[in-house]
Amino acid sequence: MILTFKIRHGRDFSSELVKARKVAEYVLCHKTRSSKDVKQFGLKSAIANQILRKYGNNKKVRNINRIKLTIPSQSIKFDKEGRKIEIPCLGFNVAYCFRNDYDKINQIELDNEYAYVSANVKEEPQITPKTWLGVDRNTTGHIAVIGNVTTGKVWKLGKEALHIHTKYMSIRKTLQKKGKFGLVKRIRNRESRIIRDLNHKVAKEIVDVAKKNDAGLKLEKLEGIRNNRKHERKFNYALHSWSFYQLQTFIEYKAKLCGIPLTYVEPQNTSKECSRCGNIGIRDSKKFVCQACGHVDHADANASFNIALRQPIDRNVGRLNTDRDVFKGNTDTPRGATL
Ligand SMILES: [Zn+2]
Repeated sequence: MILTFKIRHGRDFSSELVKARKVAEYVLCHKTRSSKDVKQFGLKSAIANQILRKYGNNKKVRNINRIKLTIPSQSIKFDKEGRKIEIPCLGFNVAYCFRNDYDKINQIELDNEYAYVSANVKEEPQITPKTWLGVDRNTTGHIAVIGNVTTGKVWKLGKEALHIHTKYMSIRKTLQKKGKFGLVKRIRNRESRIIRDLNHKVAKEIVDVAKKNDAGLKLEKLEGIRNNRKHERKFNYALHSWSFYQLQTFIEYKAKLCGIPLTYVEPQNTSKECSRCGNIGIRDSKKFVCQACGHVDHADANASFNIALRQPIDRNVGRLNTDRDVFKGNTDTPRGATL
């Protein structure tokens, strides 16, 4: 799997970037694919060739917005022990602290601030899951709650997200009133970084739990969330939607890397149904009560069990004996227990 890592490099590439833009504009205008034609601009040929390949035959691109220097694999040297990457043709080297289990660097893109390193990381072979864990995602309380129907165990993760959102929103409001719009943007970027780190951490924990339990993961299909009243009425949905998607992409790629199967289920009523008897119960904030069978549970835990019990949308993955009888074997286990 190819992963891209972003490193702040602290070097000024503006003159190379200007040359690269000239090359790109020339290539677009003259429809050339020959490196001789663009030699006059003085850009390193390895980089110029990448621009020729990108724009030379491209009929869709009319204007060049953002230009980056693309360095191909053969022009990159890396030292894993010293954790350093070198681009000899630019006399450039940079230290990195991302994961070290890659086998190849495919390319590096440079702008004036960052190096985007695309590296090839080996995926582990997919496990045959013994059970499936349901992952319920939320915008209030914990951002992810995992439920294991086979043991009745529940993991609640990422409680701090709401606090972070609320805190930064109030800072932004104050700044907006004062007319400090530059600061508003910086604060928003800072919040995004913090949430991103948190999403990485939560996604890793989810995949780790799956690994330890020899389990696959089931998530609600996100497209359905807009029609799902559970999320609709929740505080500031728009603000959270990107972080929902982000968490999902992080879980997806981390699961893939670790060989954990992942599948999706329909989201309808996952928070209203009783995970023990299937009837519609009453949900009051984070408390779920089923009047039909008397089952009482933490609402997100109940939802996570429902997700685990659902048949997957992709019928080929995640089929499980999803009979609610699974609960009968573990009636003594504390439900809603947190780690
Ligand atoms: Zn019930």
